[in-house]
Amino acid sequence: MAQAKKTVTVPSRGGHAPADALPAEVYRQAVEQADVAISITDAKANIQYANAAFARVTGYDRAEVVGGNESMLSARTTPRAIYHDMWKTLDAGRPWSGRLLNRRRDGREYLAELAITPVLDASGQVAHYLGMHRDITAMHQLEQRVRNQKQLIEAVVDAAPMAIALLDDRRRVILDNQAYKKLVADLGTAEPAEVLLAGLGGAGEGTAGGRETGEVRIDRPGGRGPRWFSCAVLPIAVCDESADAFFAGASGRHTLLVASDITALRVEQERARTAALKSLLAEEEHAAKLREGLSAAVYRLEEPLNVIASAVGRLRARGDDGVSTALAQALEMGRQHVEDLRRSIPAGAPEAALGVNLNEVLRDVLDVATPRLLAAGITVEWQPAPVLRSVIGRPLALRTLFKALLDNAIEAVGAGGRRRNARREIRVETRTGREAVEVLLDDSGPGIPPDRRLKVFEPFHTTRTAGGHLGTGLSRAQQIVAEHAGDIEIAEAPRGGCRVRVNLPVNGAFE
Ligand code: FAD
Repeated sequence: MAQAKKTVTVPSRGGHAPADALPAEVYRQAVEQADVAISITDAKANIQYANAAFARVTGYDRAEVVGGNESMLSARTTPRAIYHDMWKTLDAGRPWSGRLLNRRRDGREYLAELAITPVLDASGQVAHYLGMHRDITAMHQLEQRVRNQKQLIEAVVDAAPMAIALLDDRRRVILDNQAYKKLVADLGTAEPAEVLLAGLGGAGEGTAGGRETGEVRIDRPGGRGPRWFSCAVLPIAVCDESADAFFAGASGRHTLLVASDITALRVEQERARTAALKSLLAEEEHAAKLREGLSAAVYRLEEPLNVIASAVGRLRARGDDGVSTALAQALEMGRQHVEDLRRSIPAGAPEAALGVNLNEVLRDVLDVATPRLLAAGITVEWQPAPVLRSVIGRPLALRTLFKALLDNAIEAVGAGGRRRNARREIRVETRTGREAVEVLLDDSGPGIPPDRRLKVFEPFHTTRTAGGHLGTGLSRAQQIVAEHAGDIEIAEAPRGGCRVRVNLPVNGAFE
């Protein structure tokens, strides 16, 4: 029972009195009214004094405890070693503090946080002990509850099949689970959360209440296929634990990242998509060849017609009207037929522009070309940027572009392969910049000499002599790049051979 506080009247001395000048009654009242259980014992722990709070905490009347031993409070379950340590410390004349299990007068147990200070007499011997203790049962329960909850949460989080990471406001991982740890090894990256968050990069499918969701594709170097994750990012407001934030009430922001591996599902979808893409690309290639053949025919037919036109001019100048008129008629008919032929060239299918991941495009093109690459004994070094920004573009046109470049590289390596001990390699790399995505395609073929690097983009130019190839591949490639407001150039690859560098702006030409 709380008792009414007594007021201690300190005689005024006209200023601040030094502590040792305070009357003894002030100390007595201060101890008596303190809100912590205080007892003073003799050197054998026999209680000589107990304050009001002692009675409140233990449930004993003061008259019942004075004269008794402190051991009367013991619940008899505190390990002996603790008492041993306590007395060893006290016997050495040093203060001791710790936690003991006590029993109240009504039999209820409570956890006491106790501090004992030896009080020495003039000869330096322990004359008394000053004991101060608080009932910390409620605080202990709270601590245990927090610990249990933490263990429970960690167990649940650890058992979850999805990767979970909690990041502090400096984006450092402060809690993660087994699935997340496995990602570190699988992706070969120190902090998968960084890669996943960068991949999400505000381009999630939606945000609700600060929660962001989206799908992230992570491309891995070498022959290892890409991985897909369905991600959710949840901001969590947390209170600042530092003392200076006590009144300011400052709060920080943690981020919870949950990533489910959906690679198996996407691989299945991709397999079906690649098969469809293969036939689409074959169709497109067939149509392109047809366009190429017809364009070449038109181009070549124009040459004799131009010869006839100049002959008509010369005959007319000579006054040979008969032959020139007949020739002019033939010329006119020829031009009409050429025009008909030009009109019959099938136009490419119209295609809508959308966000395209060039890693995906290149992966598709490499997948489609795998049988040819294997047959030609060419090794491919695939170095994708782990996370690539999308470019706005026409997916099929871009696949056609890179397929044409890869086909050229395969042919070039094949040609180079006829040399002795020649490397048979193609290296494909993507790099991501702020404004553009760069694709580098290096081959170990003979390369293209500097004076022909611009010429190869001209229509019907070819460096190949055999096979009747018309050489519109690079001109068409350049056209597709230009449609996407990008640029393409040919250089020498670092290890020799040809390097084709394609730069496509992120916002492209279609926004
Ligand atoms: P033991 O530890 O076996 O000791 C038997 C008796 O000898 C007890 O009277 C003990 O007090 C005394 N004693 C033991 N060793 C020494 C020594 N080296 N020097 C002098 N006397 C010794 N215990 C609690 O369980 N709860 C408390 O709240 C509590 N408060 C205490 C407050 C103070 C100020 C002091 C000095 C001690 C307190 N103790 C408390 C310790 C308590 O005195 C007992 O040591 C303890 O309860 C173990 O009891 P026990 O019957 O097993 O006695």
